[in-house]
Amino acid sequence: MLHYARGDFLAAFAFELALESKMRILLVEDDSMIGDAIQRALSDASYAADWVKNGLTGLAALDTHSYDLVLLDLGLPDKDGLDVLDCIRARNNPVPLLIITARDNLDDRLRGLDGGADDYLLKPFDIAELLARIRAVLRRKGGAAQSVLGNGVVTLNLLSKHASTDEQREVALSNREFALLQALLIRPGAILSRSELEDRL
Ligand code: CA
Repeated sequence: MLHYARGDFLAAFAFELALESKMRILLVEDDSMIGDAIQRALSDASYAADWVKNGLTGLAALDTHSYDLVLLDLGLPDKDGLDVLDCIRARNNPVPLLIITARDNLDDRLRGLDGGADDYLLKPFDIAELLARIRAVLRRKGGAAQSVLGNGVVTLNLLSKHASTDEQREVALSNREFALLQALLIRPGAILSRSELEDRL
């Protein structure tokens, strides 16, 4: 039988959970080259990415899956992206949404942002900037102001520093365990190296 120090065991457990709970992003983009590049970048950044190439398929995907964020092109073959946005918000779906488009006129930009988009990124863009904007939108929508972090299996109360699981079992954590679990839950799906983790302890 293997003997783990309690912190090691918790770290291994939290690591497994973080891996299982990748953020899921819906990419609505009809351009094959751009879509392919974005999907690869998202997957490299440890997001789960579903890529659809028109507006109606995008809306259908949103009806059947829960997404953490939508990347929406405006020039789509079947339906204008701004109309897709209107449909999403008309269904009271608050999913964070980032428009990615070559349309640089002010009217479209205003319509997009006023219509409920969280950000508007002009093509061509650098993938690194796209990933930074995604992180910023996700932070604004979910992160900093929360007093609770969770991934559906384990919940971490940032005020009491207790972790709890589905079975309602509450565990008081040491400062080191708390820091480790927080680091893993704050970026679900991200793979952190040992030194990155140690930096946070
Ligand atoms: Ca397009």
